[in-house]
Amino acid sequence: MALSGLDIYKLLPKTNCRECGFVTCLAFAMQLAKKAVSIDKCPYLSPDAKKALEASGQPPIKLVTVGSGEEKLAVGNETVLFRHEEKFHNPCGIGFILNDNLSENELKKQLDVINKFKFERIGQALNVNLVAVKQTSSAENFLKAVSCVMNNTQMGLVLISAESKALKEALKITAGRQPLIYDLSGNYSETAQLAKEFNLPLVASAQSLEALSSLTQELNKQGVVEIILDTGIKPIKDKIWDLTQVRRLALKKSNRSLGYPMLAVVDKNDPVEEAMEAASYIAKYAGIVLLKNINTAETLSLLTLRQNIYTDPQKPLQIEPKLYPIGNADKNSPLLVTTNFSLTYYTVLGEVEASKIPTYILSVDTEGMSVLTAWAAEKFTPEKISDSINKFGVKDAVAHKKLIIPGYVAVMSGDLEEASGLQVIVGPKEAAGLPAFLKNL
Ligand code: SF4
Repeated sequence: MALSGLDIYKLLPKTNCRECGFVTCLAFAMQLAKKAVSIDKCPYLSPDAKKALEASGQPPIKLVTVGSGEEKLAVGNETVLFRHEEKFHNPCGIGFILNDNLSENELKKQLDVINKFKFERIGQALNVNLVAVKQTSSAENFLKAVSCVMNNTQMGLVLISAESKALKEALKITAGRQPLIYDLSGNYSETAQLAKEFNLPLVASAQSLEALSSLTQELNKQGVVEIILDTGIKPIKDKIWDLTQVRRLALKKSNRSLGYPMLAVVDKNDPVEEAMEAASYIAKYAGIVLLKNINTAETLSLLTLRQNIYTDPQKPLQIEPKLYPIGNADKNSPLLVTTNFSLTYYTVLGEVEASKIPTYILSVDTEGMSVLTAWAAEKFTPEKISDSINKFGVKDAVAHKKLIIPGYVAVMSGDLEEASGLQVIVGPKEAAGLPAFLKNL
């Protein structure tokens, strides 16, 4: 847990020697509390004080990485229970479990589908993150499946097996890919050594939180530092209880032994049930969710949900305010104006693209507010729109003098005409009305 300036001061030598560059130990303590300086600046810290200060500087939930390169997934480092308190930092990793009894062709087909789960929503690229290979047959089949997955996706890998020997061989195949090791045997003596030797993340699995806490302490003693926690497959209410308690204990009770991201495996055959359960775990508080069904509708819904949960609630998603030509917009193309709230802009953009009519969209800086909110907050006013028209060279881009405004702010038409010198046309209230409106313009 983070210490206050006074708590830190109690640990300092209190000699005011000034060697740290501060006039007093108290001044140094206050800067340490703000994380503005490093503890190394004071050469006189006792070993115990140094240990306590270093521990207080650690995040309550460790950041753990799986995978390598551009597809690397980092989870953990969360600091709050509720999103409105600050924000959730590192989006939960979503992945699929592939059993090793699938034929090579079947594996490749499934990987092809998984690799294509990439799409853009409100200006952000969304994709799944992990492929887990699970040993359900012989070690030989497991290693073949691992090779196939390794060669057909760049995503992070999870190796699931109850045989430490098979895991060791699989690690040779996946060298450099930083896979997550999940030993189902419950015997960590060999896999802990492997995790330490290759500096890899390891799943620590136990049914109860007490057993999990003892296990992570034991793994720490063996030198394993990158840990993902799992309490196994349970009824959804029990799993959410575990996920919530672990988060609470790590954040509110500074329980270091449970200060790691959690994993949840969803074991449902019905894709709708699977999606509902996975959605619950993404919301509370899984760091990784692994699914069985490779279903497009389900996956896109979960990726969208994850995006919404991991946006900063205090900063609406915004786009750069400017004049956007859509299609081959030229001097005679219609000119629409809207706000720079991502969801608003991309909704308008989608409808303009659907109309197939080249158009200009002028996005006004409303600090990420939607049309009516911005209008009520006086961020979307005739003066602001007029300023944007001048700032972004609208009058040079279009030859006509017509500006289409959202129907909800029709009330500003007169004032906007006066401020901008353009003829104002009131467009539809909803973006869905734009294709028909533009075609009949
Ligand atoms: Fe105090 Fe250490 Fe700074 Fe000296 S170097 S003033 S002992 S904090």
